[in-house]
Amino acid sequence: MIEMLNNTKDRCTLCKKCVGVCRKTVGREAISYVESGNGNASIVFDFDKCIVCGSCAYICGDNAIIIEDAGDTRIMITPSGRKEFKLKKCAKCGYYWAPEQQIKFMAEKANLPLSSFDLCPDCR
Ligand code: SF4
Ligand code: SF4
Repeated sequence: MIEMLNNTKDRCTLCKKCVGVCRKTVGREAISYVESGNGNASIVFDFDKCIVCGSCAYICGDNAIIIEDAGDTRIMITPSGRKEFKLKKCAKCGYYWAPEQQIKFMAEKANLPLSSFDLCPDCR
C-alpha cells in the first residue's frame, strides 16, 4: 500500500545520515542540509541527481525516507517532497526491474550503451 504522503518533514530529526551516505557511499550529491539563517534547517533532495538507489532510506532510522514500487513507478517520499520515477521494463520477461535514472548512471559509469541494460538480471 502506497503511503499517500507529500513529504515526511515532521519525521526528520536532521541527523544528516542520509546526506553522508548519498555523498560518501553512493557518490551522488542528491541530499543537502540547508540552514536558513534563523536557526532553522532542513534536508533538501535534488531529485535530478538522485538515482533512486534506496541507500538513504535504508540508513534513515526515523522512517523519513520511504521508497516503494508500484507497477512501472518507484515512489520516493522525503522530508522535502514526493517524487515518482519511471522503472525500466525487462525486454524479455516484462518485469520492471530498476529506475531509468539508475540505469543511465550505471551505463555512464561502465561506459556501456543503454541497450546493455535492456534485460533484467534474471534474463541476462
Ligand atoms: S531524512 Fe532521515 S537520515 Fe536524513 S536527516 Fe532526516 S532523519 Fe536523518
Ligand atoms: S536514493 Fe537518491 S538521494 Fe538516496 S542515497 Fe540514493 S542517490 Fe542519494
